[in-house]
Amino acid sequence: MKLSKIFLYDEPAVPELKVDELCKFVENTFSVPVERRKNIFSLANEQTANKLASCRIFNTRKSFEAHSPTREEIEFEIATFFDSRKTENIVMYDGFEFQRIVGDLVSEYESALDLLHIVFTNKLTCTYDESDYRYHGRAVICSNPAIISTTGIIEAPAKPRGYYLELISNVVQGVNVETMKKKYQGTYLEYNDKRFSAISEGYLLQTIFYYLTGDAFCESRECRLNNAHWQSDLLYSQLEVGKLCEKHQKVLEQLTAS
Ligand SMILES: [Zn+2]
Repeated sequence: MKLSKIFLYDEPAVPELKVDELCKFVENTFSVPVERRKNIFSLANEQTANKLASCRIFNTRKSFEAHSPTREEIEFEIATFFDSRKTENIVMYDGFEFQRIVGDLVSEYESALDLLHIVFTNKLTCTYDESDYRYHGRAVICSNPAIISTTGIIEAPAKPRGYYLELISNVVQGVNVETMKKKYQGTYLEYNDKRFSAISEGYLLQTIFYYLTGDAFCESRECRLNNAHWQSDLLYSQLEVGKLCEKHQKVLEQLTAS
């Protein structure tokens, strides 16, 4: 296997992420040593803050253009390096720019081809889609380093259709939105959701499969590599099914045997 070690970078703002257990899960699945690391941005400096603030997205209907950050925006990034729980409204970042910035934080010495770095972050990564000319939230950017956005896991796969329809009509009619949210509770992932760690295993599998085979995703909902566009599919594939499909299980066996 062309993988000698995996580094998992923690996101302390999301305590539901059981990083030690996730390290064990990856170790057991791929028979490869895994090392837990602190949040990647503990290695960051003001230059990193500047670069991050420059890849914020303001217009979701335009492809990427570097933004000239204000002092305040740079200060905000620096504050999150010390405490990633500091958030204002959700900030969108261009996922590929973000991935490059994170890549610069991985030391040259550790950029060897057989080392995979997987970074958990609560920052929301987004990518511009040429098919509908707009940015979409992404839970995962498969590359090395690979990025798993905890906010992306919550925000990118859509909630049930009925949720949006009711939300719109409730807002129009002035009905209490909280009551409506209760009705749909459990059908989608929320912030501070206990199911977070189990769901994250699927995204870890996707990043590692991508690294090893160049293919991260599976069409089948009966597989943890399914690239869920709906929260219901995400919960189904990761919790109810909770394993790889037959085809990908075979791929895994071949990968770990070599
Ligand atoms: Zn599959």
